Amino acid sequence: MPAVPTDSLVLLTGASGYLAVHVLQQLLERGFRVRGTVRSKDKGDYLKQLLAKDGLDSKFEVAIVEDVEKPNAFDEAVKGVDAVVHTASPFHFNVSKADELIGPAVQGTLSALRAASQEPKVKRVVITASFACVVEPKEPVYTFTEKDWNNFSTQQVEEKGDDCDKSQMYRASKTLAERAAWDFVDKEKPSFDLTTIQPPLIFGPLLHQCEKPESLNTSVNNFYQFLEGNKSAEDAQTGFGSFVDVRDVAHLHVESLVKEEAGNERFLVATADTSYQPLLDLFFQHASPALKDAFPSAQKGNPGAPKPTQNVIDTSKARRVFGWAPKDPKDTVIDMAQSLSEYKKQKWT
Ligand code: NAP
Repeated sequence: MPAVPTDSLVLLTGASGYLAVHVLQQLLERGFRVRGTVRSKDKGDYLKQLLAKDGLDSKFEVAIVEDVEKPNAFDEAVKGVDAVVHTASPFHFNVSKADELIGPAVQGTLSALRAASQEPKVKRVVITASFACVVEPKEPVYTFTEKDWNNFSTQQVEEKGDDCDKSQMYRASKTLAERAAWDFVDKEKPSFDLTTIQPPLIFGPLLHQCEKPESLNTSVNNFYQFLEGNKSAEDAQTGFGSFVDVRDVAHLHVESLVKEEAGNERFLVATADTSYQPLLDLFFQHASPALKDAFPSAQKGNPGAPKPTQNVIDTSKARRVFGWAPKDPKDTVIDMAQSLSEYKKQKWT
């Protein structure tokens, strides 16, 4: 028995985001009906047009939720749904105060859970958490599992306040939001169960509305800066932990609704631990001449340079429960570069 039958109505929060549009597309392809929250009518219209190209728009409806931090943000949108997938949370560093990230991350999560607990039909809530909720400084080689929690970033924010490094503010926002979610389920004992997905940096093709390169989501923008030659060969050698394909992360959100055993579990997901160098090597080895021409200043780095020693992410639980295997990194890199070249040509000129 699937936890949530595949013709059910799912509330998808932040439906216009980079990851969420992939989740939306895969939910509809799987047979689910989806109510997606977006911040403006324009973002909803974009999604309807995008889905209509593949005949997927008939089971999609839009609900406007301008700010997830506002109390009771999802009380209307949740009515009649059977499950919730909560992706909406700020992932950027354009803030001066930690609360600008922590507020929407934590309050948005709690609003989604409170709303779900008032809707008796909801059987499962899936939350896009992050590897940021898990990773903290460790001596290599350490293997992270679902038992690990990031206590470092929240301590940094407590000690340094708004002088804290922005990436630690983001990591703290995700950690506090995920902690709040598990505490909510522990204390309130709602009739639904909870699944959290913990991706590291997400790469892969874009589907979402993005009118200019400055609006690119944070993770894809990191790679785009190498393609445009705005990063150095030295930057390419810096280890950044790990990455995972956006289509894999979306797939695991959808499967988390379906698999009974996914209830009340965290799942680490990752393709490979790496620096940017191996990804640039894949780009230069496999991109077509036309794709290379789209990025004439792309940073080559030092091809074949050894990877820095990094910690490891144990993804055995996701592989076992979902029968999942990560996509080939070559496809992630080439499909991401290809879609960036198309956005550049069609939308950014
Ligand atoms: P994204 O494109 O920036 O998506 C974030 C979504 O959240 C957008 O739809 C955004 O709406 C919405 N949002 C943010 N703050 C909001 C607020 N106060 N009220 C209403 N909506 C709000 O980034 P993404 O990479 O797809 O991130 C999606 C989720 O994945 C986030 O929870 C993020 O923490 C998590 N994640 C991402 C990565 C990664 O590498 N990309 C890795 C691990 C986890 P607008 O665009 O309209 O502002």
